Amino acid sequence: MKLSNTDQKIQVLEPGWTPERVIRNVINSGVQENAFYVFDIGEVYRRYKEFITLMPRVQPFYAVKCNDHQTILKLLADLGAGFDCASKGEINKILGLGVEASNIIFANPAKPASHLRHAASTGVNLMTFDNEMELTKIKALHPSAKLVLRIRCDAEVVQCNLGMKFGCDALNEAPRLIRAARFLGLDLVGISFHVGSGCGDPPVFRRAIFAASQLFDYAATVGYNFQLLDIGGGFPGNKGQSLDEIAAVVNLALDDFFGDTDVQVIAEPGRYFVASAFTLATCIHSKREVRNMDEKDSSVTHVMYYINEGVYGAFNVVIYDHFNPIAIPLKGFGGKLTPSSIWGPTCDSMDMVLENVMLPTLDVGEWFMFENMGAYTLVACTTFNGFPTSKVHIVISEEDWLLMTSELSVCEDQFVFGNSPSNLRIGLDVGDEDDKWETPLSVQSPVC
Ligand code: PLP
Repeated sequence: MKLSNTDQKIQVLEPGWTPERVIRNVINSGVQENAFYVFDIGEVYRRYKEFITLMPRVQPFYAVKCNDHQTILKLLADLGAGFDCASKGEINKILGLGVEASNIIFANPAKPASHLRHAASTGVNLMTFDNEMELTKIKALHPSAKLVLRIRCDAEVVQCNLGMKFGCDALNEAPRLIRAARFLGLDLVGISFHVGSGCGDPPVFRRAIFAASQLFDYAATVGYNFQLLDIGGGFPGNKGQSLDEIAAVVNLALDDFFGDTDVQVIAEPGRYFVASAFTLATCIHSKREVRNMDEKDSSVTHVMYYINEGVYGAFNVVIYDHFNPIAIPLKGFGGKLTPSSIWGPTCDSMDMVLENVMLPTLDVGEWFMFENMGAYTLVACTTFNGFPTSKVHIVISEEDWLLMTSELSVCEDQFVFGNSPSNLRIGLDVGDEDDKWETPLSVQSPVC
């Protein structure tokens, strides 16, 4: 992996160190106030390997939209992954890494004209569509494109449904669209689907692969010889979520419906590669105790914690990605638990991370850790109300580093070794000693 000069260095952790231990050390420095991510690049490496091992017939085209951090893109490019791009901007990002245009699929079924022209001029030919108007646009702006028809096949249990926006009906619409493409003289090469992101219904992959195989057969009757099956994304990525069951379903369905063919099979995994690689640390900067209004009993009934990340930043996933964050207080769960809520830093009351959660008593200056924060977080952050996007500190375990460097050519000076305080702060916007003040700070109440 050859990072350029502007890219961030990666800290190689000493044995026994974990992202959590890195977080604790950064926090204990006493001068870190802003929230930050610790990103374990070794996790992305291992997950890529696992994906191609569990589904040997499926070539991953990473969905850039999920997390476009340069280090992720470079690692995956070096490992030989293809890329699923949704726009001209993403195409440029990937071509800028030196990836061949033929390793990109423009997998947005509804493309603005200028983006289509850009695909044509940069040689990005493979692209999806799901309606007649898109075919007409492609005929006008990129007539030599290789088209992949996206059909709809929704998982019954899913984190984010995508079928309500994209994918034509496989039985009623797809045959007509195949005929329309033929009529326009366009080069239709295969079928794609996306069962929905964060799929909890493995058998849906069999249903979708079967529906695709039927359309391969239909296309042959009108003169096409389809060569590509794109099984989309949907592979869950949080810690503890396994790919095994989906992989078994996919492999069997490919054997059953595409067994004796040399059809190229690709997928567009996003969250599977990156979700678990990012851990976010956030600081409690303010706190409000809600008390009983009773004159005789003014005990605390609920505590509101305000942290320095919210739904306009990393926790946009609470709204857009239907993500349920789990707040882990770094001091642990010991002591009495009180009904609590966690709020982001902006002045908007929509900016709520967790509405009702049982937490121990925490003070201003104490920290929460949130795992599985790598998918659809950083890419959709804003700086609403002037709050900055959290910075990223990249780490890799020594074990993963050895594995990775045995396979890829890396520049040694991309990496820093050892856990010195300055190594632990690479990439972070730590304050200086003058910013230090006494925390944790607990609520001071009148005695009466
Ligand atoms: N491909 C397309 C076309 C998508 O829209 C998405 C996500 O929205 C993905 C792939 C990635 O999906 P996932 O993160 O579920 O793997």
